[in-house]
Amino acid sequence: MAITPEQDAVCRYLRRHDLMSFAPTAALIDMDGTLYDSMPGHADAWYRLMTEEGVECEHDEFFLYEGRTGRDTIRILFRRAFGREATDEECEALYHRKTQYFSEMPPVKPMPGADSMVGEFMRRGIATVLVTGSGQRSLIDRLERDYPGAFPPAMQITSRDVEHGKPHPEPYLRAMERAGACPESSIAVDNAPMGVISGAASGAFTIGVTTGPIPEKELMDAGADIVYPSMPVLAERLPLLLDTFGMSI
Ligand code: CA
Repeated sequence: MAITPEQDAVCRYLRRHDLMSFAPTAALIDMDGTLYDSMPGHADAWYRLMTEEGVECEHDEFFLYEGRTGRDTIRILFRRAFGREATDEECEALYHRKTQYFSEMPPVKPMPGADSMVGEFMRRGIATVLVTGSGQRSLIDRLERDYPGAFPPAMQITSRDVEHGKPHPEPYLRAMERAGACPESSIAVDNAPMGVISGAASGAFTIGVTTGPIPEKELMDAGADIVYPSMPVLAERLPLLLDTFGMSI
């Protein structure tokens, strides 16, 4: 019988980490582009801010910085445009303006399928933790309404909780601490290359999901254990993936 992509992914993960089995106790979940369809709005806000600042940039390049903290994105663009480091004061003021521009845009919708994914983790007693490089209160404050009970404040890692943002593994490692989980019992879910690199480097089983212009291959190349082409497909296949962990393969 042909093996499923899920069996293949789990086998490769177990072999690479030298494990006999994997029983997930925590799901560490990215916010922008994963729980919310917010990336186009973020790209618009960044593009408006940076062109106002005289930084030459492309609208779609902001999808590539997705997952990084705002501070890191500002630093990268300042180095390229002006050949110098942005000061802490500049980073703070610019990020503040960027969050304002974002919050002036039409309300962002939850990503279709994300509620089923979160619900499936919760039904199985797998702790859910938010892992975002964002400090955008307008979205973080909506989590309880859109995903009731899933991400209480103690189960949120935002830009304020880490020294190093994605692609560094620190955000996902901190999320494991919050859930009392270890890498060998954690699943990371992220839609961007920087986030997938971070999740894979933390040692978690890393699910990549494409929800924007970034192709599936880029998430595989970033180290995802498995990649789904959309959040509804991820939600549909998740029970099978979680069942696969429970089988001896
Ligand atoms: Ca993201």
